[in-house]
Amino acid sequence: MSKEPRKHLEKGEDPAWKSQTKLLHSGEDPSQYFGAAVPPIVQTSLFAFEDYEALDEAFGDREHHFIYTRGQNPTIDLTAAKIAALENGEAARLFSSGMAAISSTILSQVSQGDHIVCVKSAYGPTMKFLRNWLTRFGVETTFVDGTDPAEFEKAVKPNTRLFYVESPSSLVFEMQDLRAVSAIAKEHGIVTMIDNSWATPIFQKPLDLGIDLVVHSATKYLAGHSDVVAGVCVGGKELVSKIAANEHVLLGGITGPFEAWLLLRGLRTLDVRLERHQKNALKVAAYLEAHPKIKRVYYPGLKSHPQYELGRRQMSGSSGLMSMMIDCDLPGVRRFVDSLRVFRRGVSWGGFESLAYAPIISMAREQPEEVWRAAGVEPGLIRISVGLEDVEDIIADLDAALARV
Ligand SMILES: *Cc1c(COP(=O)(O)O)cnc(C)c1O
Repeated sequence: MSKEPRKHLEKGEDPAWKSQTKLLHSGEDPSQYFGAAVPPIVQTSLFAFEDYEALDEAFGDREHHFIYTRGQNPTIDLTAAKIAALENGEAARLFSSGMAAISSTILSQVSQGDHIVCVKSAYGPTMKFLRNWLTRFGVETTFVDGTDPAEFEKAVKPNTRLFYVESPSSLVFEMQDLRAVSAIAKEHGIVTMIDNSWATPIFQKPLDLGIDLVVHSATKYLAGHSDVVAGVCVGGKELVSKIAANEHVLLGGITGPFEAWLLLRGLRTLDVRLERHQKNALKVAAYLEAHPKIKRVYYPGLKSHPQYELGRRQMSGSSGLMSMMIDCDLPGVRRFVDSLRVFRRGVSWGGFESLAYAPIISMAREQPEEVWRAAGVEPGLIRISVGLEDVEDIIADLDAALARV
């Protein structure tokens, strides 16, 4: 295999394939592995060569040879190629977690003295990385209200290199106008990057809207079975090759072949899972919105969402994660959380199972109060990941728990 260039990545694919066909067939060439219906897990750290010349040749074209798994591995590359195809990107790299993908991709774009503009509703650890860690190396970030594209324009400085967005965000589900934000960035020669974990490429393809780089916590919907932690970065060949040759291989936050294979297995059903997540979530959101003890539901699929129209313009659906503000005191919120029977209590989301979480629990410990208040967090805010269970059981569970607040 070491002498074979990665033929399977280029063979027989039609870029016009729709999502579910890509999920099943993109990146795959069974003739490379005995016709097996499922690609093998190439669980190896290195690839050996027949002679000096073959090794020499491989080093002459590292991108197309398997040498060492920190750089290239057939299972990992196949999974990455499938995600690239799904996002309408040219290339992708897998990482050991969403945060490894996010931090490595941000680092690929900035040097000492540079400036970043980021939405203030971004994922907590992403903001912590920008606010507390990157500042140690002289990279400053301005956090803006991403619901207004003009805020990005206003925040631009001569040294701004990167716009970082997360649309929708995963706590209060704010959206950014991706076409407008990427147009502003292009005028200033600024690279744009999005965390697309919530919508997934099934419902939103940011590269088609002008965004340069897409990152995911593949731990969530892409893998979908709550059994793997992984991340991915997708984009054009030039940007991704640079990341592959530098941050990916030098910081080494790579995923292993087995995790890549689990992700590949999860991806097979992404489209059908999301269809069910969406169907359940729309019913749950409508139920919650009508409930007298719920002050507000945060869900882009609801017509009452302040940016519903924007969502319809740039997304083709909505997934299963939402938040609600319960009209009660903290003891009431605790009773609600503790009364749930179908929902499990826990962080993360995007797996098969329904989950509930009170963001205040982690935010109050990790961030100063003004930061989590600015991110829209209050003690009554509960985030739920609507799973694949029968929706009648999910709603009955919420109904019984709400009766106890
Ligand atoms: C979970 C999450 C991440 C981080 O992903 P990990 O795989 O846990 O590192 C990034 N962004 C969002 C929106 C997330 O929910």
